[in-house]
Amino acid sequence: MAAAMAARRARPVRVLVDMDGVLADFEGGLLRGFRRRFPGEPHVALEERRGFLAREQYRALRPDLGDKVASVYEAPGFFLDLEPIPGAVEAMREMNNMQDTEVFICSSPLLKYEHCVGEKYRWVEKHLGPQFVERIILTRDKTVVLGDLLIDDKDSIQGQEQTPSWEHILFTCCHNQHLALPPSRRRLLSWSDNWREIIESKRGARTVESS
Ligand SMILES: [Mg+2]
Repeated sequence: MAAAMAARRARPVRVLVDMDGVLADFEGGLLRGFRRRFPGEPHVALEERRGFLAREQYRALRPDLGDKVASVYEAPGFFLDLEPIPGAVEAMREMNNMQDTEVFICSSPLLKYEHCVGEKYRWVEKHLGPQFVERIILTRDKTVVLGDLLIDDKDSIQGQEQTPSWEHILFTCCHNQHLALPPSRRRLLSWSDNWREIIESKRGARTVESS
């Protein structure tokens, strides 16, 4: 029916955006904090970072360095003081203003959550504003969150749900830049890369009947 066709409308594209390594410069802040706190110790330059967990790479460098690097990100003030990733704040504002687009921040706090959780909320309010505080999802399992896209720098995101609703877009970060992805997987190289096109690619399949 023509009337039914005309009544078709798009439901919003829901975008889940990770925090560390995507909005907040965790790796840069960690290296700076480590060198300040342990100036005599060897460190891993950002170009040499491999693997999602800095703690494991530092532990491989020398066993005691794993706990030392963890003490940096577990300290009060670490998460609050992270610098925004270049272009992230502007991209989030623009994305949030796009028609038929819902933006959520989806972040996994440390198991040592004491400082991390509150500071993540404060970071979002400071850099993105109170309207984004209402869009925070903190979870250790992102696979159970519903969305069309998850922009995240972790190369493998697993949890209880075997088939998450979202497509994982790998956001390039020092620790994942050398990984070769299968052709079916997409990357966002930075916030200067074409995130708008990735969102638009999700629209066609998302029409729903409205009458
Ligand atoms: Mg991350």
